[in-house]
Amino acid sequence: KSAGSGQFARYDPQMHSGLVERLQLAADLRRALDGGGELEMYYQPTVELRSGDIVGFEALVRWNHPARGMISPADFIPLAESTGLIRPLGQWVLAESCRQAVEWGMGASERPLTMAVNVSGRQFDQPDLPAVVASVLATTGLPAERLCLEMTESVLMTDTEENLAVLVSLKGIGVKLAIDDFGTGYSSLAYLRRFPVDTLKIDRSFVERLSGAAPDAALARTIVQLGQSLGMGTVAEGIEQYAQFLALRRMGCDLAQGYYFAKPLPAAEAGLLLRDPAAL
Ligand code: C2E
Ligand code: CA
Ligand code: CA
Ligand code: CA
Repeated sequence: KSAGSGQFARYDPQMHSGLVERLQLAADLRRALDGGGELEMYYQPTVELRSGDIVGFEALVRWNHPARGMISPADFIPLAESTGLIRPLGQWVLAESCRQAVEWGMGASERPLTMAVNVSGRQFDQPDLPAVVASVLATTGLPAERLCLEMTESVLMTDTEENLAVLVSLKGIGVKLAIDDFGTGYSSLAYLRRFPVDTLKIDRSFVERLSGAAPDAALARTIVQLGQSLGMGTVAEGIEQYAQFLALRRMGCDLAQGYYFAKPLPAAEAGLLLRDPAAL
């Protein structure tokens, strides 16, 4: 793309996923984790479908690379996982999101607001995850029940006994637990029952089917009903259209997120929404 990038074939597609490229990017990420403001949290509101009220945010990390611009977490989270950098990155994400929640008064607000933070399956490989979470809560002063940790079904399906023990200690601390992208990971109902999960997040692929030429509501409805029968709340991901909003509300889905309400926002803008929820 740019002729000025010196001897580095930065935009050569053959190089793009190459080892050298990945090593360079990992080194850059290590440097970013040392500070300097390249990493930033964005916050996407979660909305109660019945009332339209904002009930919390999901924290989503962004990396503004000095040379490459914004790099998607879909690209650098896997890199962080394969290099072990997910541990310091995950701790930074947790600490920054909890700090922000306290700055916004989410801990003290009369209507309960929840900060949801994504936790990679690799972070569960560290048995001290509950200690890390407890320490962040103690340092920031966020009440445990204001924090929700999101994990994918793979956490339930791999290293099951170890991860179950970690989840039970996390529940003991008092944080909420959510299964992300629910319905895409083939977890069995028997597994789901054993885990102390509060919320199922309906994957965007099922929400997409609720609109268009041949809408298909069966899968989304099944997940909402599953949540209801197991005493778990449901959050629909990726609502973009009014038709999807209506369909999910009619099904009795509790909460939702998506561009229809708001995109993930920088902290300053998300804070404005919180002070003026009618702005949605
Ligand atoms: P996710 O946890 O499933 O997050 C939802 C993704 O969908 C986000 O992408 C969000 O920006 C996007 N999204 C929200 N509403 C809509 C919508 O209406 N339409 C569409 N098309 N997309 C929507 P994002 O921020 O690029 O994150 C991608 C994934 O990267 C996340 O998927 C999560 O798995 C991972 N990730 C992001 N931040 C973190 C983090 O701090 N820690 C960890 N471990 N993973 C993270
Ligand atoms: Ca998530
Ligand atoms: Ca998700
Ligand atoms: Ca996803």
